[in-house]
Amino acid sequence: MTSHDPSLKPSPQAQTPTVRATLRLLATTDLHANLLPYDYYADKGDQPYGLARTATLIRAARAEAENVMLFDNGDALQGTPLSDITAQTGSGWTGAHPVITAMNHLGYDAAGLGNHEFNFGLGWLMQALTAARFPVTCANILTGPEAPGRPLLPPYLMLSRQIADSHGRRHPLTLGVLGLVPTQITVWDTYHLAGQLTAQDMVQTARRLVPQMRREGADLILMLAHTGIDAGPDHPGMENAALPLAALPGVNAIIAGHSHQVFPEDGGVRQAGVDPEAGTLSGTPAVMAGFRGSHLGVLDLNLVRQHGKWQVQSHRAEARAVASARSHAPVPPDPALGAALRVAHDATLALISRPVGHSAAPLHTYLAMAECSAAVRVVTRAQRVALRRALAGTVHEGLPILSASPPFKTGGRGGPQHFTDIPAGPLSLRHAADLCGFPNTLCGLRLSGADLRDWLERAAVCFRQITPGGTDQMLCDPDIPGHVFDLIDGLSYRIDLSVPPRYTAAGMLADPDARRIRDLCHDGRPVKDGAMFVLATNSYRASGAGPYRAWPATTLVYQGRTIMRDLVVDHLQSTGTVQGPSAPIWRFTPMPGTSVLLDTGPGVRQAPGALDHVDITDLGQTDCGFARLRLAL
Ligand code: MN
Ligand code: MG
Repeated sequence: MTSHDPSLKPSPQAQTPTVRATLRLLATTDLHANLLPYDYYADKGDQPYGLARTATLIRAARAEAENVMLFDNGDALQGTPLSDITAQTGSGWTGAHPVITAMNHLGYDAAGLGNHEFNFGLGWLMQALTAARFPVTCANILTGPEAPGRPLLPPYLMLSRQIADSHGRRHPLTLGVLGLVPTQITVWDTYHLAGQLTAQDMVQTARRLVPQMRREGADLILMLAHTGIDAGPDHPGMENAALPLAALPGVNAIIAGHSHQVFPEDGGVRQAGVDPEAGTLSGTPAVMAGFRGSHLGVLDLNLVRQHGKWQVQSHRAEARAVASARSHAPVPPDPALGAALRVAHDATLALISRPVGHSAAPLHTYLAMAECSAAVRVVTRAQRVALRRALAGTVHEGLPILSASPPFKTGGRGGPQHFTDIPAGPLSLRHAADLCGFPNTLCGLRLSGADLRDWLERAAVCFRQITPGGTDQMLCDPDIPGHVFDLIDGLSYRIDLSVPPRYTAAGMLADPDARRIRDLCHDGRPVKDGAMFVLATNSYRASGAGPYRAWPATTLVYQGRTIMRDLVVDHLQSTGTVQGPSAPIWRFTPMPGTSVLLDTGPGVRQAPGALDHVDITDLGQTDCGFARLRLAL
């Protein structure tokens, strides 16, 4: 080497060296209180998901990297008997909410809220959060009936950490974390929240706060956004607003959720603003980690620090599955988390084994999208009995009482195990929780015959249009969950699948000439448009979610306080025995020479008598593990 070798000259970079570091953000979302791999409804310990399995991925992801932070994005505190039975007043449980215990154990850095955090009211939520050893943020929920109230929780967090660079030297970094939840909470949980909270638009809120967070010293900004990806046009109050949020200037990364999807996903569809290969939404690094602990979001931000400012130079986004699609074998659960949850788990097993009645017939939802399900009718009867009692002595007493409910578990995104399957015999609290898993309350609506017909048209959006004479057409629209499919107990009717759906999944009129509901009768006589009824339904449905209408307060004749599961328990205890099948409420209009395909749980093969019908053929297993059935219409 000579003294002229240019490499020996001090470069400007060497005088002010560029610091490089990688910040790894880990994310869970929509855990819905799935912790241990235990199915409390089926009383089996083989669930292929749950935070105990995700914890094994968390441990591995932490070991791979230097600077790691862990976040949860909401819908964590509700969803299984651990949360919905054990962590409730009166259960006898005096410990912390088991989900908070698990999150403390795993050392979360921060969490956001989801819509389901509000299901048991504000008092319950704030009590549960008192045990959290990590901060919780929510920017767009204010206390009080009208804006501007105080924020319910810190609108954002400034998390200051010492970040190790590529040479092991430490540098300060402040990560601003902003929590957001859909404004729809005040509608969906209006009974708990009316007059107590105001929800502000997520995008408007973030647009206002992001520059403020920068001014207050945030080097980088992460959104903990409990919201999914909707490629449709932006609009105020948008429920799934991850794309417009990620597009806001100054946002470095977004952790999305709520819609229970996986992002980025192998073979995921590229669409406007959504790039599954780059792992970006609106060009911003993004992850969405499925639900129930099915995935761990891993977002590596490759940073440079120049002149004291951190910048994201490149990134890598990944959603790691606890069970790979190829092997189907999930990673083992983390034994340390299992030990931390032992007491809560045992308490839950004791609580849900309380006897509540008896069933003379199996109660399952394997065929609930194809024929009238006895499992759904336990719920509709419980609702009808409770509403009749509630309306006794009121001006509404003389009206016919009908009752609407969907099957709550019909596979779909929940997978091949996501069905209610209760054998004939003794019933315990776990079975009532299985029949009615959502913490809704009873509502009574005063509706006309025309309203009921319209209600059923909205329920029937679940089905695809079927070509008469065609064979092996998929029956259900895969984008619409089965829990949209209400039946109305007290009526009888047919559903004509040769007609297209009258409504879209969002309840917009799709085809004004389309009418799928035929032969609608009450007590054997056609239902007149102007005839009046009272319909028992649940509070979520009455709020108008999905394809359903939101009903004005003048329609509401009763709003109950007891959650639906407890009404089912009351009903089972006073009935003693659930009897076997009665006359079906609904059928498909016969279409000779036509067949459809239904993907259901493989457990249908063990359900006594379920497949004995001459019109059902078992075609074997699909790649996703569903049992595919051919049904003659
Ligand atoms: Mn959720
Ligand atoms: Mg949600």
